[in-house]
Amino acid sequence: MIDLYAQYLSIKQDIDSTLQTVFKKSTFIGGDYVEKLEANIAQYCQTKYAVSCASGTDALYLSLWALGVGPEDEVITTPFTFFATAEVIARLGATPIFVDIDTDTFNINPNLIETRITKKTKAIIPVHLFGLSADMNPIMKVAKKYRLYVIEDACQAIGAMYQNKKVGAMGDIGGFSFYPTKNLGAYGDGGMVVTNQQLLADKIRLLKNHGSKKKYCNEEIGISSRLDALQAAMLSVKLPYIDSWNNKRIKISKKYHNLLSDIPWIKLPKYDETKCKHVFNQYTVLITNGKRNLVQSKLLENGIASTVYYPIPLHLIKALSYLKYKKGDLPRAEQACEEVLSFPLYPEMDDKKIITVSKTLHSLSKIIF
Ligand SMILES: *Cc1c(COP(=O)(O)O)cnc(C)c1O
Repeated sequence: MIDLYAQYLSIKQDIDSTLQTVFKKSTFIGGDYVEKLEANIAQYCQTKYAVSCASGTDALYLSLWALGVGPEDEVITTPFTFFATAEVIARLGATPIFVDIDTDTFNINPNLIETRITKKTKAIIPVHLFGLSADMNPIMKVAKKYRLYVIEDACQAIGAMYQNKKVGAMGDIGGFSFYPTKNLGAYGDGGMVVTNQQLLADKIRLLKNHGSKKKYCNEEIGISSRLDALQAAMLSVKLPYIDSWNNKRIKISKKYHNLLSDIPWIKLPKYDETKCKHVFNQYTVLITNGKRNLVQSKLLENGIASTVYYPIPLHLIKALSYLKYKKGDLPRAEQACEEVLSFPLYPEMDDKKIITVSKTLHSLSKIIF
């Protein structure tokens, strides 16, 4: 699906020499690289503060925790996302409330949010899935009306924009992941929160560091969630490339679009390009004739990897069965899970590979439809 080694080769000199520097300094926890990366990410995301942590999951978990989300609270989110989005809500003892998606964008349908708001609702987590911003204006409007917090799950979407605003910077707080396959990936795990609210940034810094500002003076119960210096150093080499890498992803998505638009059983990504900069962490289509799994296995026979993100909507996932959702409750998310397929996409991918995917898909038209 993606070739991380190709990216490494393109920046090898810088990565290798920075590694040497980190080892020479031998400060592996905290230090300059971590502080500089936080400052640079805040600047890149157009926010006042950025606080690093161990993963995207922790970024979301710490955000909800710092906002005081806990038992008795309900948090509205999408069922069509990675498990972590809902897991962190449940981990804090709060109840995830799932709202169906818009099939064109795969993101939460803002028009359905208000119907699920109760006295217990405390926050909304829109997810900018596959690199496309959720429709933030109506989401912020309903959040304001009911005084709800907005936590953006921007784990797949660093650099994506909505009406010239960076994702992560529109709600109260935004969470990013540096998992290796994200658009800005570390060589291991990492995460970051961004916010314009100083109290929130301070609280997260406290919670992620054993509840202490000063060593051995623990003020409250926290956790240990750190981005290590090695990962911060690697990310600091990569950050200057993020826009050019994202733009390459957009170019590749356009090539896919042009090559695949005549296949009647494939529905291509559809979004408002004048409003959103989609950064294509995934190029995800719908296989609309009920033969998604067959298409995937035929692609594999031809040496082409493709992935189903995601096969099970979260309202039907085993770990959350206590919420008592049923099949049919959120039909658009359920249908997406049956029809989605993501094709290979990474910035260093060459045209030949895109053409091979297209040719193979066209040849399938004759065999299976
Ligand atoms: C990757 C991802 C996460 C979790 O990030 P980790 O760094 O793997 O913990 C959360 N939400 C979404 C939408 C993701 O894609």
